[in-house]
Amino acid sequence: MRWSLPLVGLLAACAAVPTAPPASQRPPNIVLFLVDDLGWQDSSVALGPERTPFNDRYRTPNLERLAREGLSFTQAYAAAPVCTPTRTAILTGQAPARSHITYWTLRKDTDTSAKFSGLLPPKWDVNGLQPEDTTLPELLQQAGYRTIHVGKAHFGAVGTAGADPRNLGFDVNVAGHGAGGPGSFLGLENFSAAARKGDRVWDVPGLERWHGKNVFLEEALAAEAVEQIDAAVAAGTPFFLNFAPYSVHAPITANPRYAANYTHLDPREAAYATMVETCDAALGTLLAQLDALGIADETLVIFTSDNGGLSAHGRGGEPHTHNAPLRSGKGSCYEGGIRVPLVVRGPGVARGKRNDAQVISTDLFPTLLAAAHVELPHDGVERDGLDVTGLLRGGSLEADRILVWHQPHFWGVQGPGIWPFSALRVGDWKLIYRHADRGFELYDVADDPGETLDFAASARARVEELARMLGGRLRAMGAQMSLDEATGQPVPWPDEVERSDPFRFFQF
Ligand code: CA
Repeated sequence: MRWSLPLVGLLAACAAVPTAPPASQRPPNIVLFLVDDLGWQDSSVALGPERTPFNDRYRTPNLERLAREGLSFTQAYAAAPVCTPTRTAILTGQAPARSHITYWTLRKDTDTSAKFSGLLPPKWDVNGLQPEDTTLPELLQQAGYRTIHVGKAHFGAVGTAGADPRNLGFDVNVAGHGAGGPGSFLGLENFSAAARKGDRVWDVPGLERWHGKNVFLEEALAAEAVEQIDAAVAAGTPFFLNFAPYSVHAPITANPRYAANYTHLDPREAAYATMVETCDAALGTLLAQLDALGIADETLVIFTSDNGGLSAHGRGGEPHTHNAPLRSGKGSCYEGGIRVPLVVRGPGVARGKRNDAQVISTDLFPTLLAAAHVELPHDGVERDGLDVTGLLRGGSLEADRILVWHQPHFWGVQGPGIWPFSALRVGDWKLIYRHADRGFELYDVADDPGETLDFAASARARVEELARMLGGRLRAMGAQMSLDEATGQPVPWPDEVERSDPFRFFQF
């Protein structure tokens, strides 16, 4: 950078006047746009090696714009295949295996896990995130950010302090609470489950001004977020906006505004596609406001999802196919359950590029703190995740990294990979350890992202090597294994499975 003398003089002359720091020193605003259950294929942005029929089905022009102006990750992962553990992992930087928030939460002191034959879940943290936990918004708040949550929270159980994002470091909470789905997506139904005679625990709180209006939930959320952005900018403070649509989670509901775009689809799939487009329109609303306020260049925007796309039930067409070419979907250990979109735009971020590095939700914690010029807390708490600032600037990983997933729970729906499991990815390889039968699966995910060819029986040395790696990581994180129902004891670590019987196969 070249500085002319007159400019240096001008800056020196201004230094005595209390003004905002220069743009280069001022921490960026941060918008984390976290869609619920949005699959890796649920957009018109192709994240695989080639365009797919799903990329042609969905209409997400605003995400396309973000991808043109930013960096798209092709191998980004959610920390878990269901909602709460990924959401809390983003907020704490801790993998679910470490935090013991390994499954979704709902009511205080109540385990939501379904029963899997022969297993019991461990005594996991059924109340989720609580005020004593150090969170990303709390650290940003302490650094002078205005911290704003809009939309689905699902961090802590209903009836606990953690249900309210304001107890977890957010200055503002719009429409977030302990439940992970909305009673209704329709303002005309007051976003309440009353219209479907459902449990009122799902009623979306705090949007009374939109009740009775012909508005879809994410349209109301986007309008609320715009007001919050305006207020932060007017106050002269940087902001962290955690914008979390309730879409595209169940109950799958058509937004009539976009229905004409999908008349060729099965009605359920058409409704789903309108929800995808509604989320994209909300993204467009926020991007347009950043433009209008002249702050797009000083705002980091991260678009991602908390788990893979729903596919085991509730969808039109053949189950387990909605994330193709990936296998299975939400709740599953297969790629369809955990691989998610991730597109980032902002100051210093490579423009119009793709990156094949393996990244995971927990990376957001150190990366966003670094972007905000905030040090990691020196509190002795072990955290996971990698500061991937170098990747955002266009760099690559220097070495293979180890990613771990751990879900000692059953999601309650039959389907491929929907069982209690631990899994590891390193380089091209992915090892899955099934808790119920202590069996393994091994895939070359780089060549075979659909996980069609299992090498576990033919590459036993690699299975043993990766099982040792996985066992070591799980022990180091203090992971809680599923319990054997017959003995009440934890199932063996993956590297302690009886050698006489390590390769049993398990069929649905
Ligand atoms: Ca979710």
